[in-house]
Amino acid sequence: MQLLASYLSGAWSAGAGAKTALVNPATEAPLAEVHAGGHDLAAAFDHARVVGGHELGRSSFAQRGGLLGALAKAIHGAREELIALAIANGGNTRSDAKFDIDGGAATLSHYAELGARLGTARLLGDGDPIQVGRTARMAGQHVWALRRGVAVHINAFNFPGWGLCEKLACALLAGMPVITKPATATALVAHRLVELFAPLLPAGALQLLVGPAGTLLDHLEPGDVVAFTGGSATAAVLRDHPAITRRGVRLNLEADSLNAAVLAPDVDLGSETGALFLHEVARDITQKTGQKCTAIRRVLVPAERIGEVGDALAERLSRIAVGDPAHDGVGMGPLATAQQLRDVRAGIAQLAEATTSVFGGTGEVAAPVGVPAGKGYFVGPVLRATTTPMACAPLNDHEVFGPVATIAAFSGDPTFAAGFIARGEGCLVSSAYSDDRDWVVRFVTAAAPWAGRLYLGSSKMASQSPGPGTVLPALLHGGPGRAGGGEELGGVRGLHLYMQRCALEGDASVLKSLIGE
Ligand code: NAP
Repeated sequence: MQLLASYLSGAWSAGAGAKTALVNPATEAPLAEVHAGGHDLAAAFDHARVVGGHELGRSSFAQRGGLLGALAKAIHGAREELIALAIANGGNTRSDAKFDIDGGAATLSHYAELGARLGTARLLGDGDPIQVGRTARMAGQHVWALRRGVAVHINAFNFPGWGLCEKLACALLAGMPVITKPATATALVAHRLVELFAPLLPAGALQLLVGPAGTLLDHLEPGDVVAFTGGSATAAVLRDHPAITRRGVRLNLEADSLNAAVLAPDVDLGSETGALFLHEVARDITQKTGQKCTAIRRVLVPAERIGEVGDALAERLSRIAVGDPAHDGVGMGPLATAQQLRDVRAGIAQLAEATTSVFGGTGEVAAPVGVPAGKGYFVGPVLRATTTPMACAPLNDHEVFGPVATIAAFSGDPTFAAGFIARGEGCLVSSAYSDDRDWVVRFVTAAAPWAGRLYLGSSKMASQSPGPGTVLPALLHGGPGRAGGGEELGGVRGLHLYMQRCALEGDASVLKSLIGE
């Protein structure tokens, strides 16, 4: 069996100590093993600071963008191999795997192009010059400057490809060396990516720790950055770490999210907007077996349409074959881990006490396609309903990270819909489907404080829609409150986590020349 090695201080090393097995979640067959520790992490941080930081710091945005372009190409060259790993180790269908792998390549390409546009700039201007003296000669200018330090990236199990690439693209383009730590259970894709990437990057620019984090955070120093994606319980542990509380290390959190979708009262289900709504809710329940941080969990529907929506979604979900995604015709694979199975079952049980079943009951799957009897971490698609959207605590207080959504009726009032979004206490994305512009304006102004992104589905954009679940490199990813309060991506905004904003004061012409104008 493959023993996964970490890539630290310029060499691959397997580590030492207890071993954890990585398995195929459809069959539970072991695929690889990883040691729990045994790495010299202090040396890895030194290597990043001294070697990686130096190499990246003396290159231009354009040169670093060139590196990102090469990484995107490397993914394209190994695409089939990476997809196969995601199917085997992540329980992904081919389509799920492409979403992860192609999403990673597209994000790298986006930042490669941004690097080319930023060219040889050393400082990035932030806003216009400001007159701060008696005359225009004395000016102020905000700039973004290179930071010295190491970016530590800790990723969740659900997007081992995209998660690694989206964080890496921003940090490398900003000039920071990276130590990346994928979730152990699904680390095969990330491990292969680093095998492909490391030879294409300057020494020290990218290191990989596979297996548990161990003492990783203890080596952080002022100027370093931690970007974390995962559950809120782990996020709370990171928030309390002395590196964050005492050493001023920057921490960006992407955590749980109870994303909502709202069908506005003007939308007929037979219309283009209605079809878009049904398609996107059904897709979010089943894509990646619901293990998407952006997946729709809570669905608000005008009272007069609730039966129709339930029937239409149930019909779509009934067509999905659940089983081993390596088999033809399977539309939804297993959950990624045994722990996930326990957590999702417990979450559905809680939800079942406060809601009624529309489809799938509590998610039992009698005989998953192509799976040995009794094996695999399977839960079928589940659609539930509540008559008390605001008071339903299991729906609004706990993210069930699986193929589960709940529908609820409302009067159609946009302010109520925004209040329902707020009831989730901060989300990555929520969506509304409407062709009534006045309704949309009232909804957006009230809902925006509670969401990192609002997706506005309508007949005008339906044919081009990537859906609310797709994170785009040009737009922010992150959300307030429960979602962690972080921000990633968003074009050039994604670099800011890894740079230092500095206000310059002085002779206006000097300031202008510093930002290359
Ligand atoms: P998790 O258990 O919190 O793990 C996330 C990462 O943190 C893993 O790499 C894990 O490593 C690591 N970790 C665990 N304990 C740590 C510690 N004490 N110090 C440093 N690192 C530690 O989350 P998950 O189960 O992988 O992912 C599911 C959750 O992620 C869901 O709640 C979902 O909402 C959230 N998520 C959010 C987003 C977003 O963008 N907001 C995206 C995807 C997922 P090991 O695997 O080695 O334990």
